[in-house]
Amino acid sequence: MSHVLAAVAWPYANGPRHIGHVSGFGVPSDVFARYMRMAGHDVLMVSGTDEHGTPIQVQADAEGLKPRELADRYNRVIVEDLHGLGLSYDLFTRTTTGNHYAVVQELFEGMYRNGYIVPKTTMGAISPSTGRTLPDRYIEGTCPICGYDSARGDQCDNCGNQLDPIDLINPRSKINGEAPEFVETEHFFLDLPALADVLRQWLDTREGWRPNVLRFSKNLLDDLHPRAITRDLEWGVPIPLDGWRERTDKRIYVWFDAVIGYLSASIEWARRTGDPEAWRKWWSTDGEGKDSQAYYFMGKDNIVFHSVIWPALLAGYSGEGDRGGEPGRLGRLNLPTEVVSSEFLTMEGRKFSSSRRVVIYVRDFLQRYDADALRYFIAVAGPENNDTDFTWAEFLRRNNDELVAGWGNLVNRSVSMAAKNFGEIPPIDPAGLTEADEALLAVARAGFATVGDLIARHRQKQAIGEAMKVVAEANKYLSEQAPWKLKDAADKPRMGTILHVALQVVSDANTLLTPFLPHSAQKIHELLGGTGVHAPMPVIEEVADLDAGPAYPVLTGDYTQGTRWESVPLVVGRPLAAPKPVFRKLDPSIVDEELARLES
Ligand SMILES: [Zn+2]
Repeated sequence: MSHVLAAVAWPYANGPRHIGHVSGFGVPSDVFARYMRMAGHDVLMVSGTDEHGTPIQVQADAEGLKPRELADRYNRVIVEDLHGLGLSYDLFTRTTTGNHYAVVQELFEGMYRNGYIVPKTTMGAISPSTGRTLPDRYIEGTCPICGYDSARGDQCDNCGNQLDPIDLINPRSKINGEAPEFVETEHFFLDLPALADVLRQWLDTREGWRPNVLRFSKNLLDDLHPRAITRDLEWGVPIPLDGWRERTDKRIYVWFDAVIGYLSASIEWARRTGDPEAWRKWWSTDGEGKDSQAYYFMGKDNIVFHSVIWPALLAGYSGEGDRGGEPGRLGRLNLPTEVVSSEFLTMEGRKFSSSRRVVIYVRDFLQRYDADALRYFIAVAGPENNDTDFTWAEFLRRNNDELVAGWGNLVNRSVSMAAKNFGEIPPIDPAGLTEADEALLAVARAGFATVGDLIARHRQKQAIGEAMKVVAEANKYLSEQAPWKLKDAADKPRMGTILHVALQVVSDANTLLTPFLPHSAQKIHELLGGTGVHAPMPVIEEVADLDAGPAYPVLTGDYTQGTRWESVPLVVGRPLAAPKPVFRKLDPSIVDEELARLES
């Protein structure tokens, strides 16, 4: 057993999340965490909403709200959506907590002391008519990279590149249209070149990463520059240095604070369990966290933050770059074991776009369909290694032909035949098992090693494919053995044996599919006469801020009770009830209905 950190990308709290967001990292990280727990590892799965930065401030301004009020709204929406998907976070929190502020400032100070954060004079914008600093969000102009004519001072929403106001072509103030004046101002920079060697050594020792992710990460090291980590904006974590702490016009930049969330959420989780040092088991390079593993899940647009910036912060804080230094009070911290990045999901051949209504939000999806139907689609057809298209026709086909006609049918006919003819788990005939019986049981048992190994290596498409092969073999077995033809009393022992074998394989396949389909796995466990928690589920709790801020909802749970990753022999004589269908067959008309919604 070892300690395994599942660190999941932080959704930005400026709106509800769509299924593209959750298919890249939300569901895959949950599949991984569930499997690792079932296999006996001590898993800590953390994330939260990312709530600082210009876009939230701009949107709050537009709605006449404070940024925190806007973040409150979408933090709650996102927590509820992730809960609906059954994502088993130990803690899903947010970046506006007192705890997060303190951890971000601790990392900033430690890096500053070690010389990896340096002040630098740069050009900042002021309004010529008032002489006051113009925050980044109030400056607009043409993007120097893609030519988009409404790029903001900090970012181009068209090409996604980060900008500085001075880079903009024809910059203008959004307040009064005047051209800003650029004057010297001081900001803090992360000295990435001083950390390039330690990053390269770390990347050179990585094994088993998706090849494109490793290649991309190594290429990033060839062109490292100091990177500004403070901005001219009011909404963010204050800079924890004398002379800066009280300033309201300069804040730590949102991407710097958000990546530190993995650590701050782990610390918050530990504080809430009553053992405030427990987080060290997943993080400390020395002592108890030495053998822990840390897996980071995200979309490919976020690789740079996880394979360059975050490890650079961890190494700089630990005093491991070219300038040396001493670790801060949190000690030396572990670098990621693996950065697990997915590709993008598109929708009916187009990029997801909320403004163009090429979108389906998680909430709307879950109102009309079951969470496991989406989880199944993501597992078999998600953007694991390639950009992948979500189409309603394909969703319908996967649901009806595979989930319902394959897995659902196997469960349904095995359990109903056994319930009708025996009312309980039937015994195996003293005459023993046939070769066909033994062969099927062996296929199911072998699935534990194969499927488990594939999930541990982030090959989830192949993993669920192997689990569904067990299902297909069992359906074939039932068709060949045709227990429904064994109607004579003399044949009943053989009928019982076939159904016993089929139910055992249903039980095994159900365990193999539990990380992917936890909601239905619990129901199937109960159909087989099982009691108690088979697949633990997250809960939403309203909690007080640990450092005197306002209360907020978190996603958390007790995941110690679930089933283990092993074949559990069925208990002969355990009562069976007549089954209810576990999966819903969808009417083909949903395809046109959903397409009409997209177009409207
Ligand atoms: Zn652009």
